[in-house]
Amino acid sequence: MPLIDLRSDTVTRPTPPMLAAMQAAAVGDDVYEEDPTVRELETSLAARFGMAAGLFCPSGTMTNQLAIMAHCAPVSEVICEASAHVYLWEVGGIMHHARASVALLPGERGRLTASQIAGAIRPTGNVHYPTTRLVCLENTHNRGGGSCYQWADLVEIAAVAKQHGLALHLDGARIFNALVATGQRSEDYGTLFDSISVCLSKGLGAPVGSVLLGSQEFINGCKRLRKLFGGGWRQAGYLAAAGLFALENNVARLADDHRRAAQLAEALRPLPYVAEILAPETNLVIFRLDESHLTVADCLSRLEAQGIKASGFGGSWVRFVTHLDVTDDMLARVIAALPELAGAGRPA
Ligand SMILES: *Cc1c(COP(=O)(O)O)cnc(C)c1O
Repeated sequence: MPLIDLRSDTVTRPTPPMLAAMQAAAVGDDVYEEDPTVRELETSLAARFGMAAGLFCPSGTMTNQLAIMAHCAPVSEVICEASAHVYLWEVGGIMHHARASVALLPGERGRLTASQIAGAIRPTGNVHYPTTRLVCLENTHNRGGGSCYQWADLVEIAAVAKQHGLALHLDGARIFNALVATGQRSEDYGTLFDSISVCLSKGLGAPVGSVLLGSQEFINGCKRLRKLFGGGWRQAGYLAAAGLFALENNVARLADDHRRAAQLAEALRPLPYVAEILAPETNLVIFRLDESHLTVADCLSRLEAQGIKASGFGGSWVRFVTHLDVTDDMLARVIAALPELAGAGRPA
């Protein structure tokens, strides 16, 4: 029986046609700016988001941290949601790279509002405060269970940022999930954000890579910082080709992942050991166990015994992620396994 890996959408393997596209890539030395496939990925993705330029990097952590570092002069403050990836899961990089302080705001499933952000901006001209420079949003929001922003809310937030002269960065690790789920247009994003980080190695199924998007001047500065990080790379076109293939072939199908996530949530809802589910908006299903019925450790080990991997997500929470390598047959196997997890003879 094939393993069903629901831990993350990062676990996908390149398919034979993606590998063929990688093998056929035209490459050159990207530090000399001579890799045509990297160039094509950067320029085409930038155009797709209404941005002037792009920078291909190995990870979303690198694209986020480069952007934050580039936006923040010394003694800055960054506003973000309390469970934002840039704060929670990037090794404290805001402190280390940008040496900036962070104003954390509690979001509704990771979403911030314009008025919350306006209320967190430091008054200027007071010697006690750092200077607020940057607002970071995350769409979809990982910890918020793949939640998406409404367009009108993004417009309001961008207006507040602009009014106060703040830069606005989007951690768009799963931006294509948000676009597919909401029908928003990628080109419009460039009108609101100063920089966007897009991951190719999440739901899009490329083995490696993220692209940072912004103005030409901003990207030039980030390219220098990427070199400082040791991230200047050479024939990266082989990897860029996987990203181009993913953008061509794997965007529309994200709707299948969203449908499967909704089916998983439906199957979980009546189970006595499930205390709470964050209704899936995209491909993440986050649910809380009633641990008097089933502990997280037992849940994960009993799933694993049936060839199914999932992630503990802190406290009593568990996360399932649907992706390119999860088929309807696999989904049926998971749904069949779920009711048995709390063990026979246990109180229902
Ligand atoms: C995965 C992820 C990233 C980047 O992760 P890398 O593993 O560094 O590529 C950034 N933000 C969010 C919301 C993510 O889920």
